[in-house]
This record gives sequence, structure tokens and C-alpha cells, in this order.
Amino acid sequence: MRRLLLVTEILALTALTALLAVVAVTLCRRFEALPALPAQARPLDPAFLRLSPAEIAALPVAVRWDAPLGSEHGALTYNAQPFRVTRHLGDDLNGIGGYNSDLGDPIFAAAAGRVVYSGVPGEGWGNMLILAHRVPNPQTGELEVVQSVYAHMEKVLVHFGQTLARGEQLGTVGTANGIYWAHLHFEIRFGPYINPSVGYADAPLNRTSPERFVAEHRGAADDLLNPAPR
Ligand SMILES: [Zn+2]
Repeated sequence: MRRLLLVTEILALTALTALLAVVAVTLCRRFEALPALPAQARPLDPAFLRLSPAEIAALPVAVRWDAPLGSEHGALTYNAQPFRVTRHLGDDLNGIGGYNSDLGDPIFAAAAGRVVYSGVPGEGWGNMLILAHRVPNPQTGELEVVQSVYAHMEKVLVHFGQTLARGEQLGTVGTANGIYWAHLHFEIRFGPYINPSVGYADAPLNRTSPERFVAEHRGAADDLLNPAPR
């Protein structure tokens, strides 16, 4: 009886070992059949960049906004092509002299924020910066991601990842390498997706009127001029 049990155990163990060997061989073959991993990851496509929850939590909270050109109220500038005029998705801000009189003028961060994009996404854009901010929703008080976009710049004076104070100079007014008369294309966008995207479209997409947004979120009395401390 004992002997029979022993034989059964040996047989069972042998069968199990054989089964494991078959599984191991099959798995090895399957891994061999998989294509080799590419040697290098593909370069980042900024069109599909989403800020992670940790990155969002680290964004400056922007409770004060000012015009990015001219005075804090935007004095000495005019809006040559406002939001949604001829499908425009931003404001085209100019020095009051028009033409190239504002070439090289300083552009300021409209609010405290972090540089989440810096580059030349296309010929029509020239140098572009995108800052990301957290802004309290006036109704709910919840912090929402808002982006401010600065394009056609002659010079970019800040770098990717840098945290900027409101009013800090981030670049100079340019022509997108001679394509336009010098001006600042300025946009306000909503949400955590970072994408240079387009400056004109049939629908407003995730953009709003920059002039109105800045006025509504200025967070200070009209006559108060108080640059952020350096
Ligand atoms: Zn524009």
C-alpha cells in the first residue's frame, strides 16, 4: 500500500515537472517572438503632453493678473486683433506706435506661473512660451489650470521649467522672424493639456478672451499698481 502511494507521488511529481518544463519552453519561445524594443525612445511630441497631478500641484497659484505688455493695465498698447475677430484665438497686442515701433519691447508674465513649453512650434508661431498657473474658480473656489501663451517673440529670456513672478520679463516683442509687424500674440487657455496648437479656428476651443480674463482676474483695485516683489 505504502509502496503504491510512493509510486503515485513520484509519477505525480514527474508529470508536474514535465508540465512546468513545457510552460517554460513555450514562454521562452513567445518572448523570442516579440519584436526588439527600439534602441531610443521617440522624441517628445508636445502635442500630447499632459501635466501630471504632481506637476499641477506644484504650479504657482495666480490670484493677481496684469497685462503682459505696456503698463500693468496695458497702457501704451492697443489690441490690433481681439479674440474671435477673424477666427483669432488670442489678442494681438501692439505698442501704440504701430508697425515695428514695439520691436524689442519687454513682455511680462501676466501672473505667477511655470514655463511648461518653450520652443518654435511652427513658422507662423515663431518663439512661443506657455506658462501654466493654478487659478481659483470664482464660483467654486477650486483651483483650475489656466495657461497663458506668448508668441512671435524676438527673444526668450526664461527657460523651460522656470517659475516666474507676475510682472517678470520673459521675452521681447518680435515679428516671428519677419513674418508680421512686431506684436505679441497673447492667449489664455484652460486645462492641463500642453499643446502649441493653432492661433486661428472656427471654434474658440479651450481659449477665452485674454483682455477680459485679465481684467476679471486682476485681483486688485483699478488704481493699484504693484509689481510683484523680485
Ligand atoms: Zn495673433
